[in-house]
Amino acid sequence: GRKFFVGGNWKCNGTTEEVKKIVSTLNSGEVPSEDVVEVVVSPPFVFLPLVKTTLRPDFHVAAQNCWVKKGGAFTGEVSAEMLLNLDIHWVILGHSERRAILGESNEFVGDKVAYALSQGLKVIACIGETLEQREAGSTVEVVAAQTKAIAARISDWSNVVLAYEPVWAIGTGKVATPAQAQEVHYELRKWLKENVSPQVADSTRIIYGGSVNGANSKELAGQADVDGFLVGGASLKPEFIDILKSAE
Ligand code: 13P
Repeated sequence: GRKFFVGGNWKCNGTTEEVKKIVSTLNSGEVPSEDVVEVVVSPPFVFLPLVKTTLRPDFHVAAQNCWVKKGGAFTGEVSAEMLLNLDIHWVILGHSERRAILGESNEFVGDKVAYALSQGLKVIACIGETLEQREAGSTVEVVAAQTKAIAARISDWSNVVLAYEPVWAIGTGKVATPAQAQEVHYELRKWLKENVSPQVADSTRIIYGGSVNGANSKELAGQADVDGFLVGGASLKPEFIDILKSAE
């Protein structure tokens, strides 16, 4: 079976004091065991050492991005090697905010995923359509193309979690309905089956992101192909604990 997976993407938020407070809330939260849910929280780069050294050991830590190849003369970038040096084993790549605002293409994201995996990082690879693309009926085509750019560059999917995050649902309060999420997750799994392998399709976690909260997570979690969540806004609040409980 696919172990339920919940990521908390803090995005570009927080001060040292706020981060300490969130960590303390998480540390005292009563959550399902590690056998039931895999939890990964993703603070901004500058807070990674603080979170890594103070967060409960059953929760993992992810960076929100990393450079596409080995470090060097790339001002402003952070390399996969640096994350591993901090004992950080996860990275979020291809978030829609980076695709849309920082101009990351499908190919660039695919290159990043391949390099991060080659160095031993585990990757939360994000994909998702815009409202315009959904309304044009091209949702499956768009997410398949994003997935294909990754699939073309990797052979081992065991360290990849695929995060389906429809852009129209991110930070808008307009969560996908359970049926809408299930439909796309089903299509993604079918795509993996037909284009990668039945084994990869069966074992790869496909998680949903976009306005997930403590009130809607349970029903979404009940969908056959929804294997967890990538949570933005609600991951900064005590509500994150309630979302973890939807794994049970
Ligand atoms: P929200 O949960 O704030 O909609 O953000 C989702 C997201 O982008 C997680 O990566």
